[in-house]
Amino acid sequence: MTKNIGIKVNEPKRECEDRNCPFHGGLSIRGKLFDGKVTGDKAKQTITLTKEEPIYFTKFKRYARGKSIIHAHVPGCIDVVSGDHVLTAECRPISKSVSYVVIEVKA
Ligand SMILES: [Zn+2]
Repeated sequence: MTKNIGIKVNEPKRECEDRNCPFHGGLSIRGKLFDGKVTGDKAKQTITLTKEEPIYFTKFKRYARGKSIIHAHVPGCIDVVSGDHVLTAECRPISKSVSYVVIEVKA
């Protein structure tokens, strides 16, 4: 059975046995949402997204280009490849660097 995660998204069509799945496992989501393009899918069940946002320096009153990488867990019921546009939600830390989970793949 698919759980209601509290956000209106297209639910995955198949079920999975993943413990860390917001739809079929015990993982709950809270906090921030982040959507972006997948920049890496080499790791097993983990993808990377690049977040680009300007950083403001008060001393110089100017912006600099900031870049950070977000690691997100891919549940067993969602297929993601590099280049996809995905929506991720913040969750409890799954590992040292992973605290986001993919909840939807956008067309
Ligand atoms: Zn699932």
